[in-house]
Amino acid sequence: MVTTTKLIHHPYKPPEGFEAPQVPTYQASTVIFPSVASMRSTQWKNKTGYTYGLHGTPTTFTLEERIASIEGALYCQLVPSGLAAIALVNLSLLKSGDEVLIPSNVYGPNIALAKGELERYNITHQVYDPLSLGDLAQKITPLTRLVWIEAPGSVTMEFPDLIGITKLCADKGVISALDNTWGAGLAFNAFNMKGVGVDLTVQALTKYPSGGGDVLMGSVCTRNTELDQHIKLTHMRLGYGVGSDDAQTVLRSLPTMALRYKAQDRTARQLARALSNESAIAQVLHPALVSSPGHLHWSECCVQAGEQGLAASIFSVIFKPEYTQAQVDKFCDALKYFKIGYSWGGPVSLVVPYDLNTIRPGFEKQSTLAQGCLVRFCVGLEDEADLWDDLKRSLQIAFD
Ligand SMILES: *Cc1c(COP(=O)(O)O)cnc(C)c1O
Repeated sequence: MVTTTKLIHHPYKPPEGFEAPQVPTYQASTVIFPSVASMRSTQWKNKTGYTYGLHGTPTTFTLEERIASIEGALYCQLVPSGLAAIALVNLSLLKSGDEVLIPSNVYGPNIALAKGELERYNITHQVYDPLSLGDLAQKITPLTRLVWIEAPGSVTMEFPDLIGITKLCADKGVISALDNTWGAGLAFNAFNMKGVGVDLTVQALTKYPSGGGDVLMGSVCTRNTELDQHIKLTHMRLGYGVGSDDAQTVLRSLPTMALRYKAQDRTARQLARALSNESAIAQVLHPALVSSPGHLHWSECCVQAGEQGLAASIFSVIFKPEYTQAQVDKFCDALKYFKIGYSWGGPVSLVVPYDLNTIRPGFEKQSTLAQGCLVRFCVGLEDEADLWDDLKRSLQIAFD
């Protein structure tokens, strides 16, 4: 009879040499060492060994290397969500008395984090106009340690002068951190834009890298060894590890990411262009369209000579001011393929009506934006013709 002990310490070892297309899922909190000496000498900070599940497994190390390669970085740390990536950067770099600068069109929870958490540690923040290099330059003071950048901004999609902002931060000696979720490492190389690079990027791997609308994960990437070591230590102290099953799910989706990104971009751009001809709509906010604030900055970063350039499959429209929020809500409710829900980058198209007054509290509305109710679309992998029929039918229901 096999005892429990024998089952746990069973002598069978499967043959070596197994290889398959997908990276195996190594599950571990405990990592087993062959000896005490090995336990004492194993290093995780430079990824030459394994010590504890929280500090990485072959599965998470592999995903980190692949994300770093996609983004043109040298180092990557995985965290449990995109928002956790933003928090990790803040917590590893800022101390009491420092100030962080955040663009007014940033992913909303970034500002909520500064207000709700950083302020309690006497870390102040200021909000800058992403379309005014002068405004940012004037807000950088000796207290400024970190500048957040987003290209384009969430919801209103203004594309900032990314190269100009990055250069300004370097000249002033402040750390630049880009939320690179939109570009995903595919639309432009944040670490080398005409010879200029940001210090850090974060991504919500939740979006395109996961691609399924089913996993939450984030990353922090850099080319700077010193910054990476800071971030690694804070990461360890905060206990920001990720589960191997989730890492494996993202690894499985990565090989199709560039193809999905391009296909979704093509559909989204067609739909955005078609919507700009609709009489109910005042403005279409998609960085690849000239109607979108910062379009030329998008071209500068994302378009190589003779090419179309790349853009994520996310855009917003502003309805003409005569249409009420109730009508716009009715339009969203009438959509069949565009589901009502947050996030993007997955197979299912999504729609969210946003109230500009609540997502930009304390910052006057950009004069570059039309008046009226705003709706954001995230285009999935459905057929363009079906999505267009859905939009057209719902426009008729709500506005005719
Ligand atoms: C979704 C998103 C995040 C946050 O990612 P989560 O994984 O949902 O926490 C951060 N920044 C941007 C630009 C995003 O779109």
